Amino acid sequence: MMALPANRHHCDVLVVGSGAAGFAAAITARKAGLDVLLVEKAGCFGGTSAISGGYIWIPNNALARAAGMADSPEKAREYLRSELGERYDDAFIDAYLDHGPKMVDFLVNDIGIPFSVSTQMPDYHPDAAGSTIGRSLHVKPVNGRILGKEFRRLRPLPRELSLFGMGVSSGSDLSHLYKFGRSFDSTVRVCLLLARYGIDVLRFGRGQQLTNGNALIARLAKALLFDLQAPVWTSAPVTRLLNECGRIVGAMVSKNGQPIEVRADCGVILASGGFAHDVERRTKLYPHPAGLEEHVSLAAPGNAGDGARVAEAVGGHVDAGVSNAAAWMPLSRVPRPDGSWGAILHSVNLGKPGVIAVLRDGKRFVNESLSYHDFVQALISLPDVETPVGAFVVCDHRAFGKYGLGYAKPFLSLQALIDAGYLIRADTPEELARAAGIEPVGFVQTLREFNAHAVHGDDPAFGKGGNAYARFLGDMSHTPNPCVAPIDQAPYYAVWMYAGDIGSFAGIKTDPCARVMRSDGTAVPGLFAVGNDMASAFGGSYPGGGTPLGLGMTFGYIAGRILSEEKRRL
Ligand SMILES: Cc1cc2nc3c(=O)[nH]c(=O)nc-3n(C[C@H](O)[C@H](O)[C@H](O)COP(=O)(O)OP(=O)(O)OC[C@H]3O[C@@H](n4cnc5c(N)ncnc54)[C@H](O)[C@@H]3O)c2cc1C
Repeated sequence: MMALPANRHHCDVLVVGSGAAGFAAAITARKAGLDVLLVEKAGCFGGTSAISGGYIWIPNNALARAAGMADSPEKAREYLRSELGERYDDAFIDAYLDHGPKMVDFLVNDIGIPFSVSTQMPDYHPDAAGSTIGRSLHVKPVNGRILGKEFRRLRPLPRELSLFGMGVSSGSDLSHLYKFGRSFDSTVRVCLLLARYGIDVLRFGRGQQLTNGNALIARLAKALLFDLQAPVWTSAPVTRLLNECGRIVGAMVSKNGQPIEVRADCGVILASGGFAHDVERRTKLYPHPAGLEEHVSLAAPGNAGDGARVAEAVGGHVDAGVSNAAAWMPLSRVPRPDGSWGAILHSVNLGKPGVIAVLRDGKRFVNESLSYHDFVQALISLPDVETPVGAFVVCDHRAFGKYGLGYAKPFLSLQALIDAGYLIRADTPEELARAAGIEPVGFVQTLREFNAHAVHGDDPAFGKGGNAYARFLGDMSHTPNPCVAPIDQAPYYAVWMYAGDIGSFAGIKTDPCARVMRSDGTAVPGLFAVGNDMASAFGGSYPGGGTPLGLGMTFGYIAGRILSEEKRRL
């Protein structure tokens, strides 16, 4: 075969974006024998997926069945019908429920990626019909050594999402961390984790024990790069698609600044992570003010809507008819010593006893033990909220000592965070309110009313701790209500949380095979969109832990399978 010039590359399938959705698509196509190229805009691979919790929500999966947790497609359909309402689409849900479990079986049995089932985490709306436990799966932790010298291309965790740079498993490690100093077993466990991390940093410059999304991407990357021998180009953004007579036959890729024409005989799969950092599009589609200073996103910085833009240029369109344009998350901005900032999630904090959220008027507005998505949905639905839209998370010294508050941890020095205005601390509720800019009379009244019932574990105003998911977020060792305790021990603490996101839900309109659709209902031949590039098959609903990754990897698998079948037919 004649060699192609240096500025041309030829493959069967081009995958754009190296998150879990892109890797799932690339691995599926490659395992079927196709020649696959995966390109990534950033200098490292993994996208948001690499810094995520790594949970994937797959109803009726074999791992839960093996663990004795009963589920069925009918039960999942019942749950999803109540979650999605009028946005329930039989064809998308059938494709998901059929292929989700197959995708997991494929990764476990054919690719060798071990998952475990979360035996504690219920669906986010556990009282809805069809809800159950066992749909949230988690990849097992792994040592970065599996990637050899490619380890340096794995997207690292930002410091705010790690403990001194160390990845902490969002399951068991995290619960030990919160019991540090209070339980002998947990203190020993955390000390061992830190010791192992310290040795890794001395030897390799970075922790090697990978958990959560970092472990997921490391395992997927190892499979694609080493076991299946497919190339992954980093610092290689797609700039436009190649359109020949209406069919997509490849894309222009800028590799280290050099334009390369990549021909892809079977098709192109867009998996560039959605538009959470495309300020113009998010301002248009998010329901609250979402400009640069008004909104915080924890999605990977490269997720700037490139997939949507290149798809629109060839006839695709963005479906904005979802109930929520993004997966919402309360996020605080943590100041860094160099003057920049990073963000941290408050998903775990808010459900804990002795913690509430108040608006600038000092009043509570919602049950804080809802899922993060529902919490922010309630916040942005409030009438007449000032911009930036957000709330204060507040706790007393007893709760702070057990759980910390956002980035502020009881075992870290707090002064720098207080000086930078991140953490507000005061000796009385009234002083706290004044220092934070909360209306003091309203706030003191809120605490008085809350505490009167909290001593009995009750929250008649909002029902905090009222269902199984809330209690999962709470502290099971706290009785009678794992989510409710009085806030009455000085000093008092507050942190400002933005109504933020962890990735977009609105996205490129596809059919249930992930083919990009034109507004006239016909497909753009040769073009697929998966992950957050694809308009959410759940119509903007967030039914359980691992929804975005579960959908992304399942439709990535579907796109990979379809292209493999098409190639076989050629
Ligand atoms: C802290 C955190 C925790 C989370 N936890 C969970 C969880 O446990 N479970 C869950 O389901 N979801 C979770 N999420 C959400 C989830 O991580 C994202 O929705 C998901 O990772 C999106 O996957 P993706 O493959 O679509 O995109 P990404 O993983 O973001 O990957 C997209 C990649 O495409 C690249 N790219 C962009 N433009 C181009 C271009 N022009 N050319 C080439 N490459 C391009 C980007 O640089 C990026 O690397 C979490 C998110 C955060 C921030």
